[in-house]
Amino acid sequence: MSIAKVGINGYGTIGKRVAAAVSKQDDMQVVGVTKTRPTFEAADAAERGFDIYVPEESLQAFKDAEIKTAGTIHDLFKKADIIVDCTPGDVGEKYKAEYLAAGVKAIFQGGEDHGLAGVSFNSTANYRDSWGAQFSRVVSCNTTGLIRTLCPIDREIRVKNAYVTVVRRAADPGDSKLGPINALEPSVKLPTHHGPDVQSIMPWLNINTMAIKASTTLMHLHTVVAELGRDADTAEVLGILKSAPRVRLVKSKSGIKSTAEIMEYARDLGRDRSDMYEIVVWEDGVKVVGNTLYFYQAVHQESDVVPENVDCIRSMCKLEEDAVTSVEKTDKALGIAKR
Ligand code: NAD
Repeated sequence: MSIAKVGINGYGTIGKRVAAAVSKQDDMQVVGVTKTRPTFEAADAAERGFDIYVPEESLQAFKDAEIKTAGTIHDLFKKADIIVDCTPGDVGEKYKAEYLAAGVKAIFQGGEDHGLAGVSFNSTANYRDSWGAQFSRVVSCNTTGLIRTLCPIDREIRVKNAYVTVVRRAADPGDSKLGPINALEPSVKLPTHHGPDVQSIMPWLNINTMAIKASTTLMHLHTVVAELGRDADTAEVLGILKSAPRVRLVKSKSGIKSTAEIMEYARDLGRDRSDMYEIVVWEDGVKVVGNTLYFYQAVHQESDVVPENVDCIRSMCKLEEDAVTSVEKTDKALGIAKR
């Protein structure tokens, strides 16, 4: 079995989680991560045993901070088969020419435009579209959440139109500089980018999105109203969601009334960094009336895209031909079991 050599460019919220997830797979290994400054995250990466690659101009700062480096960022590009670019939105664009020059494959994240890679990725919807590709893009956390639930429903019943409101977390938990801290902020550029982003993978889907930034850091919450291709009943949709990969049904009646209890549940599951990789749907909040479906779902923005990145590596590096097998393999390694 071939082992893919994976480099992580940008060891922040997403990058550190992708590094940990890749380390748990038996067909890929982390050959290094990049850091621009000798922060606590750089020290933590070193403690976890990751080789750290830095910009040439930062070598001295890392030396002064007594954090060992393995070389420059460009050395990592030469060493890896594939780079998972987890730099902040729009920074990946700057690196594309460097990946091309080094002849290394690269996965971009949802902060980059679809056009940068030319192909976007979701494990269930279009695993094979990235097969052997040099570049792909794992869509954003919200887009991943919408595709995880809408794609299986569309396959079984067809979704004619979807109307979604995304209640967005204002900042990640580790981020103290963003707001609002006591307000709700509507996104007035309509429709928001989430719908077109879903269409980068499901171009046939009519989807309309609005968004509100809320003063919370835990999770995003979506309200979804979908016009189905035919009349259905609630039990049928629940059956589809129950068997959909990386979707977890919870019940308000069992005490999970908000994103706070979901995060408590994630801590109880004992996952790495208390992550909830699955999209969480309130079972008692799913309702079908005629051909109109209503439901709520919560998205753990820091982690739902992590298993998708692992599967994307498998598709681009031609490690596993079958999407279902890759998803099962990733889920087993990350402790994602269907309940
Ligand atoms: P982050 O700010 O937490 O981490 C980015 C990391 O990249 C930091 O460690 C930063 O030091 C490093 N970095 C900055 N400039 C760099 C450069 N020039 N070269 C190398 N490294 C550099 O960001 P994040 O939240 O992990 O987001 C990364 C990507 O993932 C973005 O495209 C974002 O849109 C996407 N994404 C974020 C979330 C989320 O909720 N955090 C969810 C899904 C997707």
